[in-house]
Amino acid sequence: MVAAIGAFAHMRCVSTGSAAMADQYDYDLFTIGAGSGGVRASRVAAAHGARVAVAEEYRVGGTCVIRGCVPKKMLVYGAHFAEDLVDAQHFGWTVTGKSFDWIALRDHVQKDVSRLEGLYGETLANHNVTVFHERATITGDHEITLASGKVVTAGHILIATGARPLVPEFPGSEHVITSNEAFHLDAIPRRILIAGGGYIANEFAGIFNEFGAKVTIANRSDTILRSYDASLRDRLLQISMVKGIEFLFMTEFEQIEKREDGTLLVKLTGHDPREFDAVMFATGRTPNIEGLGLETIGVETGKKGEIVVDAFSRTNVDYVYAVGDVTDRVQLTPVAIREGQAFADSVFGPGEPYAVDHSCVPSAVFSHPPIAAVGMTEGEARNKLGNIRVYQSDFRPMKNVVAGRNERSLYKMIVDAANDRIVGIHMIGPEAAEIMQAAAIAVKAKLTKADFDATVAIHPTMAEELVLFK
Ligand code: NDP
Repeated sequence: MVAAIGAFAHMRCVSTGSAAMADQYDYDLFTIGAGSGGVRASRVAAAHGARVAVAEEYRVGGTCVIRGCVPKKMLVYGAHFAEDLVDAQHFGWTVTGKSFDWIALRDHVQKDVSRLEGLYGETLANHNVTVFHERATITGDHEITLASGKVVTAGHILIATGARPLVPEFPGSEHVITSNEAFHLDAIPRRILIAGGGYIANEFAGIFNEFGAKVTIANRSDTILRSYDASLRDRLLQISMVKGIEFLFMTEFEQIEKREDGTLLVKLTGHDPREFDAVMFATGRTPNIEGLGLETIGVETGKKGEIVVDAFSRTNVDYVYAVGDVTDRVQLTPVAIREGQAFADSVFGPGEPYAVDHSCVPSAVFSHPPIAAVGMTEGEARNKLGNIRVYQSDFRPMKNVVAGRNERSLYKMIVDAANDRIVGIHMIGPEAAEIMQAAAIAVKAKLTKADFDATVAIHPTMAEELVLFK
């Protein structure tokens, strides 16, 4: 830690007043990529007094805002009305003539995405960050060349180019879509096959299923959502199957043949060929490093193509940093934002450099119903701690009871028996992500089961289960 702080000291060029060093270059910071991490880093560095430019070849906002978390969540809301409108009848409402207009939802979502893109652009402009709407390539030491041919220099370079969907190559793989295209479809496919069993596969399976598509998930392994607690995975699988989603496990894509009528004939190992109207791949994401010129200055990359960084987001080249998905640490927007903030504060701010704590990061899958988790799964805790206590509440939310919906929630708490500390909380059920955000504070703060027991329940809620575990 001491050595790391020392290493930063000579690099500071703004707050420490080394203006002569800064003026050697056109900018103190040049950020490549205006996604969540890049925008945060750029505006914070600028607020610390740095002269900042950012290059973005697509749309300001990055994956999360333009074709990820934000529009996806809007689709999740839209999709849930399918169930709410059915359930409403059990609460006395008469709902007649209901119909769903995908184009209307799609276009509303895209309108809001454009609004958010504008806000991100405004934030940069308000902080006097220069935005180049074009591709940038590192062409020499401290030197960046833009697609227009303009050459600029910078004291520091931050790579925040994110990641993109990974589609393995096989005959016919050119016919598949990814989540990028899913937001722009002209119609909801009647039958869709989703490859992968992770976040995107389960979230979009829920969305398409609620919109009336026949959804099949095909995964190479025998599970979904590998990193989540096994009980929650099983529960989501069971609920999804009851909702009509089909799962094919231990299968790989051999071939996709596009027929004249546009349908896709899909050959999966171990199965007869089957016809679908669309195939969507959600098999992970790969870092965007192509054409950045990393090799020109010798920036080290890893096996998956990720930029190798230390805890302070520093690469092996002393003035080059990287944050967010391109580093393949934790591929989550709030983590990228924290990395961008920490980078900007550490390099351009007045305080001591600090690293982002990547432990105990809460997460959620916006499936139907959603999953949320923080800390160790039961399996991880057994392996790591040995002596643990597991509390579980398996209940039918009141709303589901009245609605006649036989869908049960499951909450799980994992406690280190040695000191009563809560080391993991796992939930599947309505609003799980909303509840988890507050519960995650308690786990991060190393609170104990006794602290939860001492907290009075809010009744009647689903969240009260967290303080009523016996
Ligand atoms: P995930 O890493 O969540 O899941 C990938 C899935 O694809 C797994 O089921 C895996 O199988 C399978 N897979 C991986 N590689 C291959 C391959 N070469 N061929 C066939 N199958 C493969 O990836 P996603 O694409 O769903 O999402 C990417 C990332 O985006 C996530 O890791 C997450 O960090 C982020 N994200 C977060 C969201 C959120 O916070 N709610 C929402 C959406 C994305 P198996 O592991 O079973 O072997």
